[in-house]
Amino acid sequence: MPNYVVGHKIPDSDSICSAIALSYLKSTLGEETVPARLGELSPETLFILERFGFEQPELKTSYAGESLYIVDHSDRVQGPDDIDDATILGIIDHHKLGDITTSAPLECWIRPVGCTNTIIKMMYDFHDVEIPKDIAGAMMCAILSDTVIFKSPTCTTADIKCVEALAEIAGIEDPKALGMEMFKVKSAVEGTPVRDLVLRDFKDFDMNGNLVGIGQLEVIDLSIFDEMKADLEADIAALKAEGNRHSVLLLLTDIMKEGSEVLVVSDDDNLTEKAYGKASVDGKVWLDGVLSRKKQVVPPLQESFA
Ligand code: MG
Ligand code: MG
Ligand code: MG
Repeated sequence: MPNYVVGHKIPDSDSICSAIALSYLKSTLGEETVPARLGELSPETLFILERFGFEQPELKTSYAGESLYIVDHSDRVQGPDDIDDATILGIIDHHKLGDITTSAPLECWIRPVGCTNTIIKMMYDFHDVEIPKDIAGAMMCAILSDTVIFKSPTCTTADIKCVEALAEIAGIEDPKALGMEMFKVKSAVEGTPVRDLVLRDFKDFDMNGNLVGIGQLEVIDLSIFDEMKADLEADIAALKAEGNRHSVLLLLTDIMKEGSEVLVVSDDDNLTEKAYGKASVDGKVWLDGVLSRKKQVVPPLQESFA
């Protein structure tokens, strides 16, 4: 039975490319390991897999009795539902420390950098294993995605250096141009069902016993949402009602203007006022300079629930 590597539910490019990159490293080190995913892939991730010639990792949602590495999260609600019945061999992550615990010792690589793939590059260097060209390309794209082409406040010098090194291995001359190409794919939202958009990059958080869902759509021009904003608002209200959530937020992030319009439905009318010092008007508020869910949106919100 192989070991697995799996990222969070509603996988993003980091979760998928981490799973591929870590599986190769572990297999090279003599541990049969395969990448897996907990859900369907986004157009951005499909673009990366196609560009570097990878198949989609196996769709696998149950891990009872199996051994796995967890990448790109450490919150229980974001991982496999039966994680308590699995053996966690390791956690490689760049988010706040979550509530996944283990009964046996494990390998932990947790760093405050912009992307899990930056940490996995450190693991390759630590073990002195050469990164294949195609894997380097996929890792590089994941870092460009997570750091919003270095614009996110989560981006560190380690991430930038890592992209430079991976680009060299992959033979990519202009990583930022490839990053923009990727964000253009990500920005093509027309014709996509509203619920698919809301859930495209959606995470649940347990905030002091309250379930809070936060989605994010990162695009190069917010005007593409003009026609569908009312539908998005109606859909997050429906999602809140269906899922027993205290609040649902949808961040419409403009990566060129570098800020986010937040659509919010909540049991607490003063939620954004309390968390971000800015009241929502008709369920909407613009937060200037806010690009990162993990660094700028989740922490103040979590504090407001304390
Ligand atoms: Mg992620
Ligand atoms: Mg990540
Ligand atoms: Mg992200």
